[in-house]
Amino acid sequence: MTRMITLDQLHDEARARFGNNPQDWAYQCPECGDVATGSDVAHALSQRPAAVAARNPLTVSQILGQRCIACPARAREFPHLDRAFVHGIGRPVAVFPLAPKETQ
Ligand SMILES: [Zn+2]
Repeated sequence: MTRMITLDQLHDEARARFGNNPQDWAYQCPECGDVATGSDVAHALSQRPAAVAARNPLTVSQILGQRCIACPARAREFPHLDRAFVHGIGRPVAVFPLAPKETQ
């Protein structure tokens, strides 16, 4: 069921499940089932060619929970996902569900 939550709520849930370090927060892709943590996303970004990074300078926080690093899925393509209000964007953003804790 789709929920409307704030980014703070989302971060509270992630903190409760995975601890205080955002690098440990894990999301699961609803398309391929891949689980990615903040560290995984940071690593994936670091592997991009510099030219790609310069053209498309995404940060970990922009990708974590919104794009899969294992397949082309993007959270906004899934209408049933939770929507989080993010400061500075002004509209709700779809987010992947947090991964189950036991996958850590
Ligand atoms: Zn995926």
